Amino acid sequence: TDIQELLLSRIRDVADYPEPGVMFKDITPLLADPAAFTALTDALAEIAADTGATKIVGLEARGFILGAPVAVRAGLGFIPVRKAGKLPGATLRQAYDLEYGSAEIEVHAEDLTAGDRVLIVDDVLATGGTAEAAIHLIQRAGAQVSGLAVLMELGFLGARARLAPTLAGAPLEALLQV
Ligand code: 5GP
Repeated sequence: TDIQELLLSRIRDVADYPEPGVMFKDITPLLADPAAFTALTDALAEIAADTGATKIVGLEARGFILGAPVAVRAGLGFIPVRKAGKLPGATLRQAYDLEYGSAEIEVHAEDLTAGDRVLIVDDVLATGGTAEAAIHLIQRAGAQVSGLAVLMELGFLGARARLAPTLAGAPLEALLQV
């Protein structure tokens, strides 16, 4: 579609970043273009409405940049899922494996309750490890995941198959596929 072409044209490929052999998808040109950023926000807000979301969760850090305007546009609250150690209140914490080592993410426990339907928003879905940990965090809080919405899915890394059991039927929506 025209919107997909617009979005794709504003994503820059950066070779060998952050390490050799990785082709990094840089979304900063898209953020700098108000027409593209607005089109992206509208498309993600439509997914929020279609999936019956009651809250938007954004994943640090680019998921904050995308998720916050989506929440405003959809008329929903925004909940940050942060790297461990950044949130001041009582948190739930979830560990997950990285290629080398592991990481932890957190959410304020009081921000999610039973009855919430949460749309998770992020920029790029790569291995799916971050999203998988976020889904577990939301489920442990007693809330439901209404869906996972990303700007771009790197399909060759297999996240869709990895996440299927955890998503348990909730949709994985990617505006762009690579
Ligand atoms: P995963 O856990 O799926 O392997 O990695 C996804 C996380 O890493 C996302 O939060 C995403 O922001 C970041 N990420 C991984 N690869 C890229 C990339 O090529 N471009 C951007 N912008 N983010 C990436």
